[in-house]
Amino acid sequence: MSIKIDYLIVGSGLTGGTIARMLQDSGREVLVLERRNHIGGNVHDHFHPSGIRVHTYGPHYFRTNSDRLWEFVNRFSSFYKYEASLKSFVDGNFENWPIAGSYIKKEIGENWKPSFEGNPENFEEASLKIMPELIYKKFVKGYTEKQWGIKASELSADLAKRFDVMEDDEPRLMRHKYQGIPANGYAEFTKNLIDGIPVILNFDFLQNQEMFDVRKKLIFTGPIDEYYNFELGKLEYRGQKRIHSYFEDKDFYQPCGQVNYPSPEQGNFIRILEWKHILPTEYSKRIKGTVITKEIPFSPQNPNDYEYPFPSSRNQTLFKKYVQRAQADDKLIICGRLGEYKYYDMDQAIARAISIANKIIEGVYDPEKYYNLSLSS
Ligand SMILES: Cc1cc2nc3c(=O)[nH]c(=O)nc-3n(C[C@H](O)[C@H](O)[C@H](O)COP(=O)(O)OP(=O)(O)OC[C@H]3O[C@@H](n4cnc5c(N)ncnc54)[C@H](O)[C@@H]3O)c2cc1C
Repeated sequence: MSIKIDYLIVGSGLTGGTIARMLQDSGREVLVLERRNHIGGNVHDHFHPSGIRVHTYGPHYFRTNSDRLWEFVNRFSSFYKYEASLKSFVDGNFENWPIAGSYIKKEIGENWKPSFEGNPENFEEASLKIMPELIYKKFVKGYTEKQWGIKASELSADLAKRFDVMEDDEPRLMRHKYQGIPANGYAEFTKNLIDGIPVILNFDFLQNQEMFDVRKKLIFTGPIDEYYNFELGKLEYRGQKRIHSYFEDKDFYQPCGQVNYPSPEQGNFIRILEWKHILPTEYSKRIKGTVITKEIPFSPQNPNDYEYPFPSSRNQTLFKKYVQRAQADDKLIICGRLGEYKYYDMDQAIARAISIANKIIEGVYDPEKYYNLSLSS
C-alpha cells in the first residue's frame, strides 16, 4: 500500500523548508522527507560541549539587500548583527580579505595596474585583470588551486566574479543592507521554518520511492544526477573535510572568525574558522577555551558531501541533459543548490524557493520556463 500525498518535498534545507512552509500556509497537504538525522540541510549548526556553536557544514553568514526577504526570515528568528570580516595569512601577517587597496599600494606603489588586459578566457586571466601578478600569486592562485584541485588557468573566468579589490580598505566581506546570524542558530531557525509540518528524518526517498503516490508535485532538492541514478554520468563537486580542535586554555586562536591560508606551503587546508568570533560577544565571553575548524578541500563521491558545483563545460553540458529529462515530467520539480547544480547564497536559495512556491500556489508553474531561466541566469 502506498502513501498518498499531494506535495512530497524531498530535503529539509532552505529550499525544501521554504517551499514546504509556503505550501502548508496556503492550505496544501505537504510531507517532507530528509535522509540526514537533522533538518536544515547544509545550514545546520550544533553545539560543541564547550557551549560554542559550530556551523556543521562550514561558516554561514546571512546577508541580503531585500527588505521582503529580511522580513520573511525574521518570521522564524531574530538575527544578531554579524558582518564577516576575513583575513588572509600572507608572509606571516594577517592581511585583509578582500585585498585592501592600501596593501597593494604598499607592495607595488601608488600607480599599480592590473597585469592583464583584454578579454579573460580563464580564472587566472580574469583575476589578473583586477590585480597585479604579485598580489594574485600571494592571495589568490594557491587558494584557488587548493580549493578546486586544478590549475587556476584551467578554471572558468566567471569564478573571479566572486571577489574584488577593496580600494577603500573596507574590511567587511560584503556590504549588504542586512547581515546577521539567527539569534539561536540555524538549527533553531530551520526548526521554526518547518514548525508544524510533518517531516520524516533518516529517510532516503530514492531508496523508497515506491512507497509514495504523489498526487500533485514531487519537489526534489537533492542532486539531480542522483535522482536519475547517475545514468548519464556524474556531475562533479568539491567538498571539504573538517578537522575540529578545542583549545581549553586559549581565549582566542586567531584575530577573526575566518582566516584564509592561500599558500600551498601552509598545508592542504584553505581556511581556519574560529567559531567564538562568530557568536555574540556577550555570549562568547562567558565560554572557556575556543574551537577552531580547518577546512580541507576534496572531490567527494558521496552525495552527502557535495558542496560546490565544479565549474566546467563538461558539467554544464551534462547538467542540461538531466534538465531535459526533468522537464519532460510535469509532476516533478528538481530545485535547490543540488537540484539546479548551482551555488546559491542562502538569500538566493530562499528567494528562488519563494518564487517556485508562489508559482505552484497560483497554478502557473511551467517546467519549460523555470529550467530555461535557471540555466541562463
Ligand atoms: C561551505 C559552504 C559555505 C556556505 N556559506 C554561505 C554563506 O556564508 N552565506 C550564504 O548566504 N550561503 C552560504 N552557503 C550556501 C548555503 O549553504 C545554501 O544556500 C543552502 O544550503 C541551500 O539550501 P538547499 O535547501 O538548496 O540545499 P541543502 O541545504 O543541501 O538541502 C538539501 C537537503 O536535501 C536532502 N536530501 C538530498 N537527497 C535526499 C534524498 N534522496 N532523500 C531525502 N533527503 C535528501 C539533504 O540531506 C539536504 O538536507 C554556503 C555553502 C557552502 C557549501
